[in-house]
Parts: sequence; C-alpha cells; structure tokens
Amino acid sequence: MTTPRIAVIGTGTIGAQTLWQLARHGADVTGYELFSPGHSRGAAGGETRLFRHIDVEHLEYLPVTGRSDLIWRELEQESGRTLRNLTGALAIGSTASPATRTALESAAALGSRAEVLSREEAQQRFPQFRLHEDEVAILDKGAGIIFPERTVRTAADAAVARGARILRECRVTAIDQVGSQVDIVTDSGTERYDRVVVAAGAWTATLLPDMAPYLATRRLISSWYLPRAGSTLDGMLPYLRTEPDYSYGLPTADGLAMKLGVGFRDHLPIESPDTAPLRITDEDLEPVRAVARDLFPLLDDYPMRAQAYFEAYTHSRIEFLREHPHMPSVFVCAGFSGKGFKNAPAFGELAARAALGLPQENDDAAFILDAEHVSRPESV
Ligand SMILES: Cc1cc2nc3c(=O)[nH]c(=O)nc-3n(C[C@H](O)[C@H](O)[C@H](O)COP(=O)(O)OP(=O)(O)OC[C@H]3O[C@@H](n4cnc5c(N)ncnc54)[C@H](O)[C@@H]3O)c2cc1C
Repeated sequence: MTTPRIAVIGTGTIGAQTLWQLARHGADVTGYELFSPGHSRGAAGGETRLFRHIDVEHLEYLPVTGRSDLIWRELEQESGRTLRNLTGALAIGSTASPATRTALESAAALGSRAEVLSREEAQQRFPQFRLHEDEVAILDKGAGIIFPERTVRTAADAAVARGARILRECRVTAIDQVGSQVDIVTDSGTERYDRVVVAAGAWTATLLPDMAPYLATRRLISSWYLPRAGSTLDGMLPYLRTEPDYSYGLPTADGLAMKLGVGFRDHLPIESPDTAPLRITDEDLEPVRAVARDLFPLLDDYPMRAQAYFEAYTHSRIEFLREHPHMPSVFVCAGFSGKGFKNAPAFGELAARAALGLPQENDDAAFILDAEHVSRPESV
C-alpha cells in the first residue's frame, strides 16, 4: 500500500503539532503556512500562554491536559528546547460561582498537585493579588507559562527534521474534494492529496465558508502593565479568575511586567484577521484596565503595550475536531475558544490519527471528537 499524501493547512498552534505527529508516523506530509511557523499574527502571539490543569468548565478536560503535558515533555526532549516554565498558577473565583465549583472539583481530582487557599491564606501567600470577600484561590502546582511562538516553531522544526515539508508564505485559496481526494489551491497552482487537515485558526471561516455558522471569530487584546513606582512583581504567578468578570494574566519571562486579558464578552466580532481593525482604542482597553485596578494593588493601570490577536470560538466552547460537513477527506481543527494552547499537543495527536485513519488511542477525548456542534446563521 502506498503512503497517503497528507496536507496540513496552517502551521500555527494546532497545525504544527499535527504536522509533527504525522511526521512521527512517517507520513508523507506537507504544511501550508500563510506566514511562517511561530509568527504572532494569529492566535499564538504575545510570548506567553497559560498552561493549567484546573478546569473551570468541564472536568473531562483533565486527562486531555494530562496527555498534553506528556507530549510537551516529549517535544522538549526531542528538540532540546525549553517550551514551558511551570511556576504554578492560581485559579481565583467566587465560592458562589459554578465555575469555581468545577475548579474545586478539578483540584480534588488533582490531589496533592493542587492546594485550595482561603481568601486570607491567599492574601498572605500572594499579596500581589487583592481578592474579593467571597473569593478563594486554588494553587495549580503543575501549571505555568507556555512560550507559544517558540512552541509552534519547535513543533514545526521537529516535523521538518522528520521529513515534513512546509511551504511558507503560501496562502491556500481553495480546498476542493475531488472523488476521495482533495485539491489544495494556491497562487502557485493546485496539488492533490489523499487527506487534508485544516488548522487555519481565525481564518477558518474565510477559507471554508461552510464552517462559518459553527464559529464566532473574534479579535482579542493582550495588554502589558508595569508595577507602580517603588513596587516589583516578585513572586507574581500566572492566574485565571472566573468571577465577577473573566480575566487571566501572566508575568513576562523577565518578570518586569504583567500581561492581562479578559473574556469573550469583551472581544470584538470580526469576519477575518485579514480585514480586522488593528488599532486599539482607549474604549477597547477599559475592561482590562478595570481588572488591573481591581485585582492588582501593585500594578499601574495604563498598559505599556497592547496588541491584537485572533481566535475562533465554537458556540459550545468545545473544540471542533471532526470531518468537514461536506468534504469527507478534510478534517477540520477549529474553534479552540480561547483555551486551545494548553491542549494543542493532544489535539495535534487526535488530528494526526484521524488523518491517518488510525483508531483514537485517547478515549478520554471522545467527548470532544463526538461533540455535536450547533450551527448558527450569524456568528455570535
Ligand atoms: C490573546 C489570546 C490569549 C490566549 N490565552 C490562552 C492561554 O493562556 N492558554 C491557552 O491554552 N490558550 C489560550 N489562548 C487560545 C490559544 O492560543 C488558541 O486556542 C490557539 O492558539 C488556536 O490555535 P490555532 O491553530 O487554531 O490558530 P493559530 O495558532 O492562529 O494558527 C492558524 C494558522 O493558520 C495559518 N493560516 C490561516 N489561513 C491560512 C491559509 N489560507 N493558508 C495557509 N495558512 C493559513 C495562519 O497563518 C496560522 O499560522 C489564547 C488566545 C489568544 C488569542
């Protein structure tokens, strides 16, 4: 039997992991990338991402994140590069909120790898944070910071080292199912493949219009804050807070500033990153400046830097990892809903096995692969 020819469209967060997994299986695989692996114009920019085991939505993600943790270590070993800094991280939330209840259940499942702190204990150990009266904090000891651009680049390099081909600065303009095969169209011509994985991030609905009803495409803003005069950020941990308003933050690698972001409600709806506004207004920054004022007694509340990134959400927030609705040889990886980085290695493994027609070894991820996705006429 001949080796199937497989194309991966987009070598960003998920595509680079998929490419590496396919190359590990010895597949004949080609990646197509609009820019170059490790660029910061999609979902993977801004130097840091939060890796956390504690989940605030679905406990079912715990084994998926455990699997990602293992694969991350394999990639670090294979490449000889450090891709994360597992400092620990805090999950903060009101005891009255369902998200905090899920977080506490996650902590119970993690056992000694998590520690639940009362507000008083949290304030004493982490005075960099100012918790509300009704809040608790969970220390997720195996959590920490991911270096996203470096991770994407490393996975892509590892794939190439194992024989994958990557076509950089090469936009795929159309994907057509032809019999059981698939044509990939670019400005340089058309190539035919046996199977295709699409991991085009916030460009998915532009490239595959049939996917648009399943996705809500958004512009997200990251902004960076310096400490007030006379303060430092020593001992600052990454965090996620679910209530009253969703926010998260990560110290920069040099520890000199804190990057903050807010939740879905405050993201700008866009059609495509190609046409999204890049200018960030004072109004855009207000929700995250409010977080800086509320949660961080030591931070100045005016950002020293702000940047736009792009992400696609599903309506359920469960990732779309399944065949294209009308093209059976095209497997779509989309809608990572603001939380796809930490599980990217496991998702890459799932996508690679699907493209190779191999049974999924990771039964724990069946709830993602089998999820029924709602389509809506307008992206909301
Ligand atoms: C600001 C921000 C903060 C986040 N924080 C976290 C966090 O702390 N923890 C976490 O786990 N997750 C986080 N996420 C979510 C996570 O980063 C995303 O879920 C993940 O990066 C999505 O990966 P992707 O592969 O879908 O998209 P991308 O990484 O953007 O990759 C898509 C790739 O496809 C390429 N492409 C698109 N169209 C084409 C085409 N036509 N032809 C060729 N190539 C194409 C693009 O150039 C790009 O490289 C955050 C997201 C954002 C935006």
